[in-house]
Amino acid sequence: MMCSPPTFLIRRVAPCHNCQKRRRFVVTDAVWYGATYTCCACGDSWTEGERHPRPFRKGWRKEAIARARKKWAEAGPYNRDAHRAWVRAQVEDLSLVLVPKDVKVTEAGQ
Ligand SMILES: [Zn+2]
Repeated sequence: MMCSPPTFLIRRVAPCHNCQKRRRFVVTDAVWYGATYTCCACGDSWTEGERHPRPFRKGWRKEAIARARKKWAEAGPYNRDAHRAWVRAQVEDLSLVLVPKDVKVTEAGQ
């Protein structure tokens, strides 16, 4: 059961390995998969330090940049309380998956 969006958008300014300078990044936080950083200037993305593969397709960079800038606009100023509430909601969703209320947890071998 999903009660909250699976990702949370955050604005960050950080050095971009591709651009070789500080850039605006939209961070797509996903509790169980790690945060993905996408550069708003070059469109490259990284998750846990690994750059995502670049699509073998003309125009992908222009599209990736447009998507990143749209998400940057949607993210708005960082709200720590909203982010924490979102993380809590994600954790609660997982606890429902792991131990549903109607399932009785018993010792192994019983
Ligand atoms: Zn960049």
